[in-house]
Amino acid sequence: MSDKPVLTVKDRLKIPVQPMPEQPPQERIHNVREVPLGYTPEQAMREADRCIRCKKPTCIDGCPVNIDIPGFISLISEGKFLEAAALIKKRNLLPAVCGRVCPQEEQCQLHCMVAKSLKDPSKAVQIGKLERFVADYERAQGELPVPELPPKTGKKVAVVGSGPAGLTVAGDLILLGHDVTIFEALHKPGGVLIYGIPEFRLPKAIVQQEVQYLQKLGVEVKYNYIIGKIRSVEELLDQYDAVFIGTGAGLPNFLGIPGENLLGVFSANEFLTRANLMKAYDFPHSDTPIYRPKNLAVVGGGNVAMDSARTGLRLGAESVTIVYRRTEKEMPARIEEVHHAKEEGVKFDLLRNPVRIVGDEKGWVKGMEVIKMELGEPDASGRRRPVPVPGSEYFTEFDAVVVAIGNSPNPLIPRETPDLRTQRWGGVIVDEQTMRTSKKGVFAGGDIVLGAATVILAMGHGRQAARSIQEYLTTGVWDQAPQAGTQ
Ligand SMILES: Cc1cc2nc3c(=O)[nH]c(=O)nc-3n(C[C@H](O)[C@H](O)[C@H](O)COP(=O)(O)OP(=O)(O)OC[C@H]3O[C@@H](n4cnc5c(N)ncnc54)[C@H](O)[C@@H]3O)c2cc1C
Ligand code: SF4
Repeated sequence: MSDKPVLTVKDRLKIPVQPMPEQPPQERIHNVREVPLGYTPEQAMREADRCIRCKKPTCIDGCPVNIDIPGFISLISEGKFLEAAALIKKRNLLPAVCGRVCPQEEQCQLHCMVAKSLKDPSKAVQIGKLERFVADYERAQGELPVPELPPKTGKKVAVVGSGPAGLTVAGDLILLGHDVTIFEALHKPGGVLIYGIPEFRLPKAIVQQEVQYLQKLGVEVKYNYIIGKIRSVEELLDQYDAVFIGTGAGLPNFLGIPGENLLGVFSANEFLTRANLMKAYDFPHSDTPIYRPKNLAVVGGGNVAMDSARTGLRLGAESVTIVYRRTEKEMPARIEEVHHAKEEGVKFDLLRNPVRIVGDEKGWVKGMEVIKMELGEPDASGRRRPVPVPGSEYFTEFDAVVVAIGNSPNPLIPRETPDLRTQRWGGVIVDEQTMRTSKKGVFAGGDIVLGAATVILAMGHGRQAARSIQEYLTTGVWDQAPQAGTQ
């Protein structure tokens, strides 16, 4: 029996939120090491003691993959960290990733009864940080044991794309005894986790290790393999019993203003891919060319914009400014990312919108004409619409501009697969329950269906699709075309 004193709900509510130690801002902008350093076992147990063990744990309803949150938190408070990791992994194969990048403040933590009792959302039990702690603890023990696998079913599934959606489908189906092959366009697995989200937020070694675990389970990964070019979905169906499309939203949106073709204007995708996947930050050890701006503007207010701005600082920029057309309240970026960006010295020009990018005589960016905005009535997203203030344009100097205003679904497979129905904006249409597309034997999920969304929603889709693929493989029944899109 545990010799811990029994805590009442009152005792638990009195325990302060345990802050996670971080690299100091002035130190971390000169390296790409992770910013939050992780809990110690003592800190994790103390944080876990804050959970009041609700009879109806509302936090689980807020988790797209329904992790047994109070269950794993109880195990942490008893010091049973490996058991806690095993419990999380029943529902989530990528806990070290989700513990770092999921927007818990809008999901599980938003529903936490501790925050509600204390009437302060920031006082929710720090579920994400605890998830990260147990995943890191488990990784630190070395090689993970591979569970016993069921006998092979003889069924084969092709998964296109190795982002969180594809990895989840692959992990779930391999555990059911099917053969799974992932086809990945890039030379490394992980999708946005590897090419988009920077090292200082999500160390790449973690993603690699989580993928290696799947490979140990028997998932085969074929790299540099673009479906839609090397082979079509139709051809995959000749060889595989089912196909899952998880190709994400990697097509950058642009502003459509004059000057966007100037030298020194980058999409966030290109900027981050060079810096992360191609390791341009590691100069001179990496020979990936990248423009190192001195005075960088990043247009946008989401996680991608924050990642670009903070990457700019780490590439040596003296000044980085976020230009965003609404206020901080409407910013889609995680609160933590905005907070970290501010701490690191990123400036915020809010209620501003670029009108044109201005170049010098050699065609390089020298600045941006920006117009002031004010907030009008709410638009379809529920956020107040930004409206330009007539005559308020002004010019500011920048030597580079990163455009981070969102991504659209990758168009290659929908274009090359005529009977795959898509939304007008490019998302593949699926049945929301089964993730079936309009094409027999083909399922889809993640950003290719939702547009640019989140890691955990992509994983939730992956899980739903795996369940539905299993049903299709065992019954052979395909009786339902998708009724509507998911948006
Ligand atoms: C910079 C950035 C920061 C983000 N930060 C966060 C965050 O903090 N928290 C969060 O929850 N979400 C964040 N997101 C969003 C999140 O990463 C995505 O929602 C998630 O990765 C989507 O997963 P996916 O599996 O659908 O697609 P992706 O992760 O995009 O993976 C798709 C994969 O398919 C491959 N592929 C594409 N076309 C083909 C083809 N034709 N053949 C073979 N392979 C193909 C791609 O190379 C890629 O590896 C961020 C996104 C970006 C860009
Ligand atoms: S809602 Fe909060 S307090 Fe209740 S079980 Fe979940 S994490 Fe614990």
